Amino acid sequence: MLKYKHLFFDLDHTIWDFATNEKITLTQLFHHYKLEQYFNSFDDFFERYKPINLDLWVKYRNGEIKKYELNIGRFYNTFCTVDLDNFTMAESFASDFVSINPTQTALIPHTIEVLEYLKSRYSMHIITNGFIETQYVKIDRSGLRPYFKKFFISEEVGFQKPKTSFFEYAINSCNARKAESLIIGDSLEADIQGAKNYGLDHVFFNPDNTPHQETIFKEISSLLELKDWL
Ligand SMILES: [Mg+2]
Repeated sequence: MLKYKHLFFDLDHTIWDFATNEKITLTQLFHHYKLEQYFNSFDDFFERYKPINLDLWVKYRNGEIKKYELNIGRFYNTFCTVDLDNFTMAESFASDFVSINPTQTALIPHTIEVLEYLKSRYSMHIITNGFIETQYVKIDRSGLRPYFKKFFISEEVGFQKPKTSFFEYAINSCNARKAESLIIGDSLEADIQGAKNYGLDHVFFNPDNTPHQETIFKEISSLLELKDWL
């Protein structure tokens, strides 16, 4: 008898390779907008962008800024670090980023192999913090849709992970029992803390083996480990 019936997978950085896809998109746009005129190199641009983007995501999650302030601000603020004070260009760059990035298709290593193995054994669902118009494009373009029954996108659900309401909504919508449900994600704050708060078993996907102090139910550094364990 299998212990679990329902597996709830995070999307970004857990199965959809956000870091690789983001870098591909930003490289394309960097050249398209001829940003070499302002930055020393793409890497120079990217190193400035990363902390600005992270900081605005934290503010957005905390409800301090709106979605458009995150979307445009991350590029506008990055441009401003090299005295490129061009809000119109930041708006256009942001809009291109949001439409192009979800069409990228890089997945975390072994994603399809593992999903193929799991699909006949479990009901699988997506739980993701993100925007409706981007997350479904990622799911479709990268061929993930056939593996999953239900999709819980924070913007659609009305709550974000790690809110207990998000997990409660997802579990109830699947008519799942908590004891038969497993959360799989890469974020200690969103996925693991959320699962713990609601009393759910969880798998922490930690591909770089980043050290931490948390008590974790199960930790893996490769998705392949799920094949042995589930
Ligand atoms: Mg994630």
